Amino acid sequence: MRFLIVEDHVGMADQLAKGFRERGYNAKFVGDGEEGLFEASEIDYTLAVIDLGLPGMSGLELIRKLRQAGNKVPIIVLTARNDVESIVQAMEAGADDYLKKPVYLEELFAHIDAVLRRVLGDPQLDNPVLEFGSLQLDRHKRVVTRGAEPVELTKAEYEILEHLWRNAGRVQSKKSIADSYQRDPGADPKANSVEGLVGRIKRKIDPDKSLLPIETVRGHGYLFRESP
Ligand code: CA
Repeated sequence: MRFLIVEDHVGMADQLAKGFRERGYNAKFVGDGEEGLFEASEIDYTLAVIDLGLPGMSGLELIRKLRQAGNKVPIIVLTARNDVESIVQAMEAGADDYLKKPVYLEELFAHIDAVLRRVLGDPQLDNPVLEFGSLQLDRHKRVVTRGAEPVELTKAEYEILEHLWRNAGRVQSKKSIADSYQRDPGADPKANSVEGLVGRIKRKIDPDKSLLPIETVRGHGYLFRESP
């Protein structure tokens, strides 16, 4: 999952960044509406959190522009303004939900989960455990097991595996996989390539090649099969 946060208040952005990091979510932060518009138009985000009071283009204008352009990214609005009018305008412009500042992280993530369930209709969000034969991935605990045995994965390996698994049955391009994890800045680029990482994931989750959950689709990318 990739989140876009449009927030100009540095302290607030830092607090949110910490929350997203702790949950292992990939989040891009920008400080004004124009950058937000550019980001949301260029990249397919899972959800955007948009502050209404922004320098230059306001959050409201940003939401209007996105929706006019046909962009359907789920949007949660943050507002410091205690006026009903701006909330109503944002919802009318196409926001899916709103939160008044001060924002408590637990509250924000509860709203994010609720919006994603409603907007995306993703049944996987109701059940945090994905299963494939004897393999299990618990998205809340961020743990992968095979039978009763834990499978040790690095953070990048876990993120790629979750991305492929959540999109089971749909081929994922190398580009979309590369966008789904954060590279370890210290690691050697070869060891950090999508091919290298997927190869290691396959060996770790299926050492005896009895399940074969991940297929290589030549010229396209990789596919996590829907069932064993
Ligand atoms: Ca602001």
